[in-house]
Amino acid sequence: DKKPYDVLVVGAGYAGLTAAYELIKAGRTVLLLEARDRVGGRVHTQRFDDGSYVDLGGAWVGPTQDRLYALARAFGVDTFPTYDTGKSTQYFRGRVKRYKGLIPPLPLFSLLSLDAAIRRINKLSKTVDLAEPWNTPNARQLDTLTLADWMNGQMSYETARQFFTIAVGAIWAADPADFSLLHALFYTRSGRDLDTLMNVKNGAQADRFVGGAQTIADRMAATFADRIVFNAPVRTITQTDAQVEVTTDTTTYTASRVVVAIPPALQADIRFEPALPPQRQQLMTQLPMGAVWKCYAIYDRPFWRDQGLNGLAATPDGPITVTFDNSPRDGSQGILMGFVLGSKARDFSRLSDNERRASALQSFATFFGPEAARPRRYLDHSFLNEAWSKGCYAAVPQPGFWTSAGPALRQPVGRIHWAGTETSDVWNGYIEGAVRSGERVAREVTG
Ligand code: FAD
Repeated sequence: DKKPYDVLVVGAGYAGLTAAYELIKAGRTVLLLEARDRVGGRVHTQRFDDGSYVDLGGAWVGPTQDRLYALARAFGVDTFPTYDTGKSTQYFRGRVKRYKGLIPPLPLFSLLSLDAAIRRINKLSKTVDLAEPWNTPNARQLDTLTLADWMNGQMSYETARQFFTIAVGAIWAADPADFSLLHALFYTRSGRDLDTLMNVKNGAQADRFVGGAQTIADRMAATFADRIVFNAPVRTITQTDAQVEVTTDTTTYTASRVVVAIPPALQADIRFEPALPPQRQQLMTQLPMGAVWKCYAIYDRPFWRDQGLNGLAATPDGPITVTFDNSPRDGSQGILMGFVLGSKARDFSRLSDNERRASALQSFATFFGPEAARPRRYLDHSFLNEAWSKGCYAAVPQPGFWTSAGPALRQPVGRIHWAGTETSDVWNGYIEGAVRSGERVAREVTG
């Protein structure tokens, strides 16, 4: 392809799609190169012949995720509230308990400890400089510790630590020992506070998309279908004085700028010429992805609702540690979704298909009774097994990342600009962060 473009965009997730959409609106000639045979990236709606669907990747949207709600409106995609009527379920020390509201039935001192920890993280997170986390007071010290170091220092009750770890798993798809305390604080503030990140009502799990979360991406892509090349993994990015050359397995494209909208862990597989600055090189190796499996059991009806249950459950004794009601809006089917998170997800990956199914259905049955062991259909999925994601939900920075390499995260390198949810200061790690990063990079390129 000899024709030079104004901008090449690498990656057709929500970040790359938004960037391309905005740049085309601004009159630029754009080509979007995508490694997979579909758009959406970490958002992937699996659709079945009978019209039902499940979101294998990103699914929920909630208050203050304004850019994503705006896109949904612009492309005619409705949202609906996540079902949360009735009692939640807890399985702990061999006993099932049902409870109303947000507060799990823990022994009093554990409950107080858990509540105090959440309030302390929220308070500490307010000190984080969202635009420049490395300039946060005490940044170096906070970035030396893992979230587990902090937890073990603050929370003396084992039960409190167990339930804190479940919440951390559900938010980060990682164990507290996996990542930097500074990142935990940054991410918390980036999404407002821990309560917002954890909750259904008024939280990050408030709403879902009718038809699945990939629907907006599909409709957005349809407006510039001839500008997207599928099955086109970018292998090399070469900068010269006059232009940038981007090479796939079959073709070299040239442009005056390139937007790289893929997670840093995948940028490490691209050969950059000349080599990227050292800080940028380091960054790509300090941002491993989280680990999560989604397990879906599909039933003829949401039978748990008849028993006054909302489908939400939590246990430290997973594999599945958290469940949600993921039925369609009209309740015409019952769909339970269970998360296997962090180190449990890595262990789960070692099981056979049958073992995973048996283990997940046993969890569902423990929470919701024997009917839950007999779904019409079971499926599970992890982006750990996908070459073009390497994990999910997003990058979980190791200690030291933000203070050593953080300043390079969004810094353009010559003609290369960086997008993706990992570069967002607001709703980092979420679809909203991806959309915002696409809008930011489009302004950067045109400005
Ligand atoms: P991606 O979606 O990863 O897009 C990158 C694209 O680049 C991909 O399409 C990839 O195929 C492509 N690519 C990679 N390498 C190359 C290459 N060399 N050349 C060309 N193309 C390449 N967020 C929420 O807001 N709500 C949720 O409920 C939620 N739940 C989640 C649950 C799971 C299981 C997962 C996996 C994620 C979840 N997330 C959720 C996170 C959300 O999905 C992501 O933050 C968001 O989709 C990231 O978008 P992105 O455009 O930055 O990156």
